[in-house]
Amino acid sequence: MSRIFNFSAGPAMLPEVVLERAQSEMLDWHGTGMSVMEMSHRGKEFLSIADKAESDLRALLSIPDNYRVLFLQGGASGQFAGVPMNLLGDKRIADYINTGAWSKKAIAEAKKYAQVNVAASSEAENFTTVPAQDQWQLSDDAAYVHITSNETIGGVEYPFTPDTGDRPLVADMSSTLLSRPIDVMRYGVIYAGAQKNIGPAGLTIVIVRDDLIGHARVETPSVIDYRVQAEAGSMSNTPPTYSWYIAGLVFQWIRQQGGLASMSALNQRKAESLYAAIDASDFYQNPVDPNCRSWMNVPFTLADDTLDKTFLEGAEQAGLMFLKGHRSVGGMRASLYNAMPEEGVRALIDYMHIFEQQHG
Ligand SMILES: *Cc1c(COP(=O)(O)O)cnc(C)c1O
Repeated sequence: MSRIFNFSAGPAMLPEVVLERAQSEMLDWHGTGMSVMEMSHRGKEFLSIADKAESDLRALLSIPDNYRVLFLQGGASGQFAGVPMNLLGDKRIADYINTGAWSKKAIAEAKKYAQVNVAASSEAENFTTVPAQDQWQLSDDAAYVHITSNETIGGVEYPFTPDTGDRPLVADMSSTLLSRPIDVMRYGVIYAGAQKNIGPAGLTIVIVRDDLIGHARVETPSVIDYRVQAEAGSMSNTPPTYSWYIAGLVFQWIRQQGGLASMSALNQRKAESLYAAIDASDFYQNPVDPNCRSWMNVPFTLADDTLDKTFLEGAEQAGLMFLKGHRSVGGMRASLYNAMPEEGVRALIDYMHIFEQQHG
């Protein structure tokens, strides 16, 4: 079978060497005669896997000691509720920045618990940009400010880290965490579903500053209460052990690649080459403000959308999979997470050139 490149937005491509390692350890992890799937989460074997994953993630992101790392379930969508339930405390207002489809979902869920102030929105620009910080109207008494660092559907990524003063900054980083270095200290909470850039579905990473733990409202389910989970080492109930293990292998792989500085350089090169190919042609378009273009998710449309189906069929024949855009926007979307090699992006660009020559 010839080589396949998987451009899915998530669940998404994983590094081949990680899958091979998991395959080799599938039936017998380190001479235990057991698969990781079969191990007690409280046994010393799994605890060693869990600890190593956390310490590798801490090393990759330089996570300071006054932050806890939680390995939870429920997805980023679970945190849409988890964030207000844990952080509101005795406040009522939460500020949200609306930059697209995932922001909107976070806002809709938060409205069940909080009085949401949409402090800035790029809806009038059809979500093709991030509102400049000097236009944000933050509330004085907001419990926190929520952003979506990378809009996976719109392909819009923050080109700056907001300054929210005393209000904790909360970021949904589902589709960008580990794509580049970040300054964790600038954030109160960072959360991400794993299935974009980290590992398999089923695992949700939450990185939370100590002082934001312990304020959950009483009716918060224990499994999403940051204090309960922090005290239990993310094991207040059975954690997603296999996804945690695979994420740990991904963390080791990123460290072997040279860490986030190397990932960042690679991701920037991949994204820039694809945007350059789109911009150089009248046949393909990307509507996003060049400053805010995502490195991870590159949506593009064909000038003639009656060719979409032909484009996608030819792409599949060339081994370029899952390029169909999100159902809400149509067109195409190429997701270029860490595991996508430059070779895959080159293959896509070559295919786009040939398709344009044949149909342009
Ligand atoms: C995929 C995604 C989500 C939803 O993640 P689930 O794990 O399916 O809940 C939320 N936010 C962003 C930015 C995403 O890309």
